[in-house]
Amino acid sequence: MIVQKFGGTSVEDAAAILRVVGIVTRARERAPLVVVSAIARATATLVGLGATAARGALADAEAELSALMDRHRRIAHDLELGAREGAVRTRIDAFEAELFRLLGGIDVLRECTPRTRDHLATFGERMSSHLLAEALVAHDVDAVLLDAFAIMVTDARFGRARPDRPELERRAARHVRPVLEGGRVPVLQGYIGATPDGVPTTMGFEASDFTATLMGAVLGAEEIQIWTDVAGMLTADNRVVPEARTLPRVSFAEAEELAHLGARVIHPDAVRPAAERGISVRILDSRAPDAGDTLLDAVGEADPSGVRSVALLRNVTYLRVAPVPGRPATEGFARWVLDVLARHDATLVLALLSERSVALVAEAGTLGQRALEELGGAARLERQDGCALVSVAGAGLADAPDVPSRALGALVGTGIRMIAQGSSPLSLSVVVPGADGEGAVRTLHSTFIAG
Ligand code: ADP
Ligand code: MG
Repeated sequence: MIVQKFGGTSVEDAAAILRVVGIVTRARERAPLVVVSAIARATATLVGLGATAARGALADAEAELSALMDRHRRIAHDLELGAREGAVRTRIDAFEAELFRLLGGIDVLRECTPRTRDHLATFGERMSSHLLAEALVAHDVDAVLLDAFAIMVTDARFGRARPDRPELERRAARHVRPVLEGGRVPVLQGYIGATPDGVPTTMGFEASDFTATLMGAVLGAEEIQIWTDVAGMLTADNRVVPEARTLPRVSFAEAEELAHLGARVIHPDAVRPAAERGISVRILDSRAPDAGDTLLDAVGEADPSGVRSVALLRNVTYLRVAPVPGRPATEGFARWVLDVLARHDATLVLALLSERSVALVAEAGTLGQRALEELGGAARLERQDGCALVSVAGAGLADAPDVPSRALGALVGTGIRMIAQGSSPLSLSVVVPGADGEGAVRTLHSTFIAG
């Protein structure tokens, strides 16, 4: 069997869904399990609705919800489902009614807790998977809609829930394997799951890729395909560097590094399940299946020399923590800083530590007010929000001693706040003000790749 995962842009409208039907149909011989994301932008909209209702603007939230539901209805209509269209509309109406009730509850309570936010966020995949399964059936593919709530059993860490692997193995054997063995095509929602007692959870923004590789790992897939809107993993984000090229082969280690550093074509968590089982992952463009693709495996490019790709992570927070002037740093200063950050759930991207000062970069929004207050109470803080982390990466970086000097030489004149190399042998990163991020990516791309 293989896994085929389709991202939000690959199911954004009826035309996109029909392309997916074609791709799945052509893979029939290989027994595909289909994993699907919410239609483009639906998850962000749903989460936004919760926030809007929580601050008392229920009418605004309801108007936005209606627009989102109309998008789904439009797709159902454009798919030309024939006799099934009525049943699909009824189902969409039922989802809508449930969402209206949920928003009403949030409005009454004036709060949208992480648990409620996850509940809201699960509707995107529940609706898109329904539309896709119906489209497959309408085109003579014997598709079976699965229920991630019954299969992807997770802990209750809302917003970044982790699956219970042994339980997932059992549920996959019970609910997925028989469908495949019956020659049918299972369709599963990405990104979402539920606790053992059925409370809806999500596994992190963009985590459908993770669902795909997990399912591939537990089912022993022959290949995992990630279908998206670009022809594989590129030498840079093509929205920033239009001339970026496809990398035909990338090792798991390189892919994981790039994903962590901002190449969001694959979710960083998604690499490990495939790598552990040695299952290759192929990244392809659902709009242009023949435009080139990337194969991720344990080996990667035979001779990866120097910089292979440039990555951009936007909107990170730079923070420097130093002892109060005149008061020498106490022993364990660096450890204290890390401890405070860990207690407040900050997600560190990079850190430079010494007993006299700490400089770090954290993911936007994870460095909360309480962490900053605790640190600020005993140390001096220098903080800059909205920075960009710009990195060059490649499996051959360790053997290319001139990369740091060339990279920094190319970036002369850019206000670099921090430089990091060595915590990983595969990359070199700089932190720059947000406005300089894209320019730095283009400069590094032309210096090392397209120059
Ligand atoms: P999906 O909805 O299919 O999950 P994403 O938007 O999450 O798609 O990921 C695909 C996008 O990732 C591309 O459109 C591209 O803009 C961006 N991207 C960033 N860096 C890279 C890279 N190195 N290679 C390919 N795509 C990249
Ligand atoms: Mg994605």
